[in-house]
Amino acid sequence: MIPGPVEFDNDVLSAVGKQTSSHVSQEFIDIFGESLEMMKKVWMCPDGQPFIMAGTGTLAMDMAGANLVEKNDRVLVISTGYFGERYADLFDRYGADYRILRAEPGRTVTPESIENELRTRKYKMLSFTHVDTSTAVKVEPQPIGELGRKYNVITILDGVCSVAGEEIRQQEWGIDVVITASQKAIGVPPGLALLVASERAMEKFRNRKSRVQNYYADWTNWLPIMQAYENRKPAYFGTPAVNLVAALNISLQQILKEGLGRRFERHKRTGMAFRSALKALGLKQVPADDCVANTLSAPYYPTGVQASEFLKEVNNAGVVLAGGLHPVFKDKYFRIGHMGKITVEDTINTVTSIETALKKCNYRFDDHAGITAAEEVLTTP
Ligand SMILES: *Cc1c(COP(=O)(O)O)cnc(C)c1O
Repeated sequence: MIPGPVEFDNDVLSAVGKQTSSHVSQEFIDIFGESLEMMKKVWMCPDGQPFIMAGTGTLAMDMAGANLVEKNDRVLVISTGYFGERYADLFDRYGADYRILRAEPGRTVTPESIENELRTRKYKMLSFTHVDTSTAVKVEPQPIGELGRKYNVITILDGVCSVAGEEIRQQEWGIDVVITASQKAIGVPPGLALLVASERAMEKFRNRKSRVQNYYADWTNWLPIMQAYENRKPAYFGTPAVNLVAALNISLQQILKEGLGRRFERHKRTGMAFRSALKALGLKQVPADDCVANTLSAPYYPTGVQASEFLKEVNNAGVVLAGGLHPVFKDKYFRIGHMGKITVEDTINTVTSIETALKKCNYRFDDHAGITAAEEVLTTP
């Protein structure tokens, strides 16, 4: 129950274990082409350009940076935690003239202050993190997409901890690039960097004056490959992660079969159940109430409970949770990932293990308070 890698479906895992086909076999061309088409549905971006690359979520971030930033381009980075800071560091490599709008830990940057900044200086690009995995803070993408259109700024959404878990309507909301990685809510073992770029983002790429300063990530090399697969034709630049793409195909089918609306609703319900359980146990959360994520929770340890002891005890109780990630206060809170194929049973088992571990750490609370609260949320029609 960590925020990635999550637990994977057996059919997805079987695809990883199958004999690897040629990357230019008709069978694989179809699998790759279908996966690209399904990505546009899951991202809700029918006119977007999808990319599937071997690499991690950070490569997906890098791809957007490498292809869309030119030296001295003004970029505004909205930071709600560790991954926002990472984006600033990344843009810096490509010579961006960047500025960071930083939220207090557990809070978001308001659309008003973003608009203020966009009005004051002319920016080419803006990046923000949908769910920052270090703080469990969720930023609402729609108002920022609207600002991007109004001020003609390309918007890049780090959706690594949200795509296929939190609602994203990329095209309708006017977000130019939405990136993710396979191992989170998409539900495929680590190793794929995924993104969908809008027509406007592709136009900025086509109009570059300088060469892309990153060989592997350069869309000049990869765009023809993606187009070829979508047109069911063979093409080669670098060998794709054949087995992972086959697994992605299965997982995207499952996501679409569940239905995006139902899937977002399930994540919302799960998030509510965890929040309610943690509150009943007397644990405060890092994110403020108006910006909580549904894909993970980040509760503070209660007074007297130590990080190392709690995490060991919860492990002994059969559940793996993650420690804190934000460098400023990482020993003060822990993280529970609840994205992907999480069931009601998974939620109840996790809350039970947290209760067991808290007891072992001599923390007092009303017996079963967490489980009762979680069950109430999960069973309400
Ligand atoms: C996990 C994560 C990343 C980095 O992904 P990797 O696959 O570990 O490189 C980036 N942004 C967010 C929001 C994440 O949760």
